[in-house]
Amino acid sequence: MIPFSPPHIDQKIIDAVTDALKSGWITTGPRTKLLEKKMAEYCGAPAALCLNSATAGLEIILRWFGVKPGDEVILPGYTYAATANVIIHCGATPVFVDVHADFNISADAIGKAITSRTKVIMPVDFAGLPCDYDAINALVKKHAATFVPETEEQRLLGRMLVLADAAHSVGGTYKGKKTGSLTDISVFSFHAVKNLSTAEGGAVMLNMPAPFDNKELYSLLCIKTLHGQNKDALAKMQKGNWRYDIVEAGYKCNMTDVLAAIGLVELERYESETLNKRRHIFDLYAFAFSHYSWAQVPVFEKDHGQTTSSYHVFALRIKGITEAQRDEIIRLIFEQDVSVNVHFIPVPMLSFYKGLGYDIKNYPVTYDNYSREISLPVYFDMNAEIIQQVVDAVTSAVQKVKG
Ligand SMILES: *Cc1c(COP(=O)(O)O)cnc(C)c1O
Repeated sequence: MIPFSPPHIDQKIIDAVTDALKSGWITTGPRTKLLEKKMAEYCGAPAALCLNSATAGLEIILRWFGVKPGDEVILPGYTYAATANVIIHCGATPVFVDVHADFNISADAIGKAITSRTKVIMPVDFAGLPCDYDAINALVKKHAATFVPETEEQRLLGRMLVLADAAHSVGGTYKGKKTGSLTDISVFSFHAVKNLSTAEGGAVMLNMPAPFDNKELYSLLCIKTLHGQNKDALAKMQKGNWRYDIVEAGYKCNMTDVLAAIGLVELERYESETLNKRRHIFDLYAFAFSHYSWAQVPVFEKDHGQTTSSYHVFALRIKGITEAQRDEIIRLIFEQDVSVNVHFIPVPMLSFYKGLGYDIKNYPVTYDNYSREISLPVYFDMNAEIIQQVVDAVTSAVQKVKG
């Protein structure tokens, strides 16, 4: 069976984890701090906070910005449920909008959905391709005059916050700049199937404009993500430094040094090995499918190479098929021992969100993308022969179903 996305665990990772375990410090400590520093450097962002997931990072930022019941947050219908769930957790209202044929949120659709209750825009860099941040950043500035601030943070910013769900797009670029530095705040995921994995984990990339101080915000978020405690475990370990205080009822979602050790190895080789390899696999798939008129290959490069994907998901679409035909094609692909996937079932189609009254009919491009989409395997140990097997399996399945 060809797997979909097995993790890249080699001796280097095992040694790094072993070193962390033997170091005597296993929770948040020097390795996490180093990973934060290196992530910030890699992305050209002023500060980074590593946490136990992207979801935790997205929610903590919504809460920091004061998102509450009655507020609206705009996001694409085409995303994983985590993007929407955190809005629900805050008691606010997710406002889904439609996407473009490239799977990313439409700035025009955002513009039409903005109301006096809109507090945050959450674009999603689908499959690793950065959204059109020039358009989105311009949009929130354009609407600043009608923004209704209700908290100190909202008054200081004076406009809607752009909080990018960059779960897929570590290492992607937009007009020559890396994700993580493209808008106010971006959140990466280091979940097991993501490009850069720490088993579970995430990073909040802070890039707030003046008068915000990103280093200060980092320190505040450290407290908010560790019980609201004014000293972390490492600081408390310093000689005689036992006394601590709780300044708010904070959350508990810090990253451990055991997992940061994996992240450090992964980040070190990310650009030269991981991204190179993934780009190569994307190129081979794109070339192979370019021979078939039924195949719609995803965009993973534009603006003359200045905008590039992180090559996270190879989201193939089949032209002129229904959702049921897509499902049948997937069944036939699995029958040939190839694992594929669908990214994603649009959030408005999921039971919980349907129950809230959302209807996929309002997001026609989202549905069209979804109904014809099949995500192909991409992983480090793939070779040309495996890629050919995948292409053959897809091709024969499509030909059977389309006749
Ligand atoms: C994986 C994913 C998340 C959640 O990441 P976690 O680290 O698992 O919390 C959020 N949004 C999107 C689009 C994702 O694919």
